[in-house]
Amino acid sequence: MAQYINNDEMMRVASFYEPLRQRNLLFEQEFGRKPRAVVETHGCQQNENDSERLRGMLAEAGYDFSDDINDADVVVFNTCAVRENAEDKIFGRIGILKHIKEHKPHMLIALCGCMVQQQHIAEKIRTVHPQVDLVFGPHALYRFPELLEKAYKSRKTLLSVDDSDGAIAEDMPVMREDAHKAWVSVMYGCNNFCTYCVVPYVRGRERSRKPECIISEIEELARDGVGEITLLGQNVNSYGKDLEEDIDFADLIRRVNDIEGIERIRFMTSHPKDFGDRLIDAMAECDKVCPQLHLPFQSGSDKVLADMNRRYTRAEYLEKLNKAKARIPNLALTTDIIVGFPTETQADFEDTVSLLEEAEFDMIFSFIYSRRVGTPAAKMESVLSDEQIHKNFERMLSVQNEISRRKNEAYVGRVCRVLVDGESKTDSKMLTSRTDTGKIVNFAGDKSLAGKYIDVKITKAQTWSLYGELV
Ligand code: SF4
Repeated sequence: MAQYINNDEMMRVASFYEPLRQRNLLFEQEFGRKPRAVVETHGCQQNENDSERLRGMLAEAGYDFSDDINDADVVVFNTCAVRENAEDKIFGRIGILKHIKEHKPHMLIALCGCMVQQQHIAEKIRTVHPQVDLVFGPHALYRFPELLEKAYKSRKTLLSVDDSDGAIAEDMPVMREDAHKAWVSVMYGCNNFCTYCVVPYVRGRERSRKPECIISEIEELARDGVGEITLLGQNVNSYGKDLEEDIDFADLIRRVNDIEGIERIRFMTSHPKDFGDRLIDAMAECDKVCPQLHLPFQSGSDKVLADMNRRYTRAEYLEKLNKAKARIPNLALTTDIIVGFPTETQADFEDTVSLLEEAEFDMIFSFIYSRRVGTPAAKMESVLSDEQIHKNFERMLSVQNEISRRKNEAYVGRVCRVLVDGESKTDSKMLTSRTDTGKIVNFAGDKSLAGKYIDVKITKAQTWSLYGELV
């Protein structure tokens, strides 16, 4: 059963805001401005969601914000452990901070998230990077004000990376990135232990938030004008299994669908072994649930799937996918794929390519296998050479690019309802927006349209995005 942080503990942690505010007032008197914080997010949407809470807590403690680490008085790197190159990047960023801190000794450096929950990484930071003041794992997120205050007082790196499944903390302050869209976590952790993945070790076992907490958070978001929400969990199909109330993810989606003011509901991530008819029915019957499904298949070979401990076969995966396609009109499909899993042979890789061709995803998120310390796959020998794995990866991308382009071309001439995100980052004359299927649509329009739902006629398709004009 999920554990929850009680009110007394939340009040105890909140008592650390006052000394932080006092500290920041003294800073303001000395420097003529408030201290500035940078929160840099690496990794998945769960980290994005956690970073919004980190910013909320920093704002409560009296910090201003910046995007530039050179301007910062506090830097928080919210890290990811899923791939080795993400970890290398963080160590590179820590090196840069070391030089900045030499000229700015009052700067406080904090690292949090999945990467630092790994004991060998936490230990490396403590011994090799003493310029880091605070290291804390995902379970200690709610204690950030307390840890920050203690880090200011401590003269050596403060570590809080205890192994635990992490009790759920509600009602943390939050500073949302977007006024019209929001992430809402419905559960944390994972019980699946795929052999390549570090998530169950760093995020703990599955814990579901109580439905009433989720609903009241979304009702509040709707009152604040947020129309689109994405429900988050490592494996949303397990939602509710640890709750006393008899509720599953399909039931939760139906309840969210009834909330006034919410226009679009998305969710991620579904595990194919648990994805089934009840969720497909809820998707088909709830008018606000977007016709979009992210269903990671990882490999098209049954042997590799077994070695990955995914607990479904290629045929079972395709059967579920085809059911969803048949039941939900205009369904957009995305997936995750790993190329070069240690036991993958060339024939196994060909199975992955043929699954891509058969399933016809709108988009894929594909990665070359990355060895993660402490996982069973880390002890397996690689069958294919690095060179062959890279060749395979490139080939898979070119197969998919062709499919993505073809699927996008089918949109040309259609009128789509889009939510306008705002100015395009690459062309200030264009606005960028998304369809309910998650497609990016760029079009010329006034930036006052940001946050509005409008109709756009699609005039041109590219591999990764669409172009259109206002109807
Ligand atoms: S389902 Fe597998 S890949 Fe996904 S978080 Fe859990 S262990 Fe990792």
